[in-house]
Amino acid sequence: MAAPKVAVVGAGVIGLSTALCIAETCPSCSVMVLSDQFSPNTTSDVAAGMLIPHTYPGTPIHVQKQWFKETFTYLFAISNSAEASEAGIHLVSGWQVFKNTPKEELPFWSDVVLGFRPMSEAELQKFPQHRFGQAFTTLKCDCPPYLLWLEKRLKATGVQMYTRKVADLWELHSEYNIVVNCAGIGAHQLVGDEKLFPVRGQVLKVHAPWVKNFIRDGDGLTYIYPGIHRVTLGGTREKGSWSLSPDPGATKGIFDRCCSLEPSLWGAQDIKVKVGLRPSRQCVRLQREVLSQGGVKLPVVHNYGHGAGGFSVHRGTAKEAARLVGECIAALQGSSSRAKL
Ligand code: FAD
Repeated sequence: MAAPKVAVVGAGVIGLSTALCIAETCPSCSVMVLSDQFSPNTTSDVAAGMLIPHTYPGTPIHVQKQWFKETFTYLFAISNSAEASEAGIHLVSGWQVFKNTPKEELPFWSDVVLGFRPMSEAELQKFPQHRFGQAFTTLKCDCPPYLLWLEKRLKATGVQMYTRKVADLWELHSEYNIVVNCAGIGAHQLVGDEKLFPVRGQVLKVHAPWVKNFIRDGDGLTYIYPGIHRVTLGGTREKGSWSLSPDPGATKGIFDRCCSLEPSLWGAQDIKVKVGLRPSRQCVRLQREVLSQGGVKLPVVHNYGHGAGGFSVHRGTAKEAARLVGECIAALQGSSSRAKL
């Protein structure tokens, strides 16, 4: 069979990283990214991009840990290279604080991040409303720069990118041998997945260059994540809301909550409000499917539903999606050689 043609639908962090893994593992493939939106207009552009995993209740913990570890290792190497600044990847240290001691004092990812330890009494004095805390160093992706860096890597490996809205994956069957679905929340309509729902998130991106440490309330609602140029203040989690309009009441609530954790933020300037829809599901949909009409078959690999943790696991899930694409190619080669007999 000639070089397999692979279409990746979606240009958020999942689509771009999946396309890159496919191009790296299958250099003979011709890979194209098709998407109705590119950076800076994706959900991935809104994210804080912190590597602190979210837990998917429907995915075994050892699998989630593997995805996180692969992502951490990949980004840690970039943070240690000359590419770090352009890719927007950097190490950041800080604290996750709790009003009450959590049931699980040692999260599954504690030995993947660096220097994880309980906070000392002296450190906890900074947070008079909190009784327990964890200190560690993790990585952060500054989102538009990281997406642009991935696009640049893709172009350098010969991957082409086209603006196109795909109404139905089947419409691609005559042009491509394999389709990879990385449409994020768009998969709700694209493949009619009723298990996929939005969890609306509003954040503020502010200028406060003196804030160097991250602070996250263990309830996951209030967080301060310093990036290279801006600090992300969060947040909200509204299950089932499709609204992309900023809510001024939420803006005030986020700002007040963050200032209560880090009072110096009262001096923050140039406050920009962003809203995104987390593509949420009980588990990431990472699987093969074969679509078929009138005896014609189209192998599909799904990779969507990363919810609140897409940046934290993107490289791990991209590698698994690329492995599944490899299986599809082997199956296609097997059927084309059987057809010749
Ligand atoms: P998207 O970025 O939405 O990309 C989907 C792509 O598919 C887009 O390019 C879209 O145009 C395209 N598309 C959709 N439908 C079609 C179609 N029919 N035809 C063609 N193209 C289509 N995660 C973390 O790990 N750490 C964080 O700190 C973090 N913070 C967050 C903060 C907020 C406020 C939000 C909202 C999310 C946050 N997340 C975080 C989660 C993270 O943003 C998501 O998990 C991740 O961005 C999902 O990436 P994606 O590529 O699947 O989706």
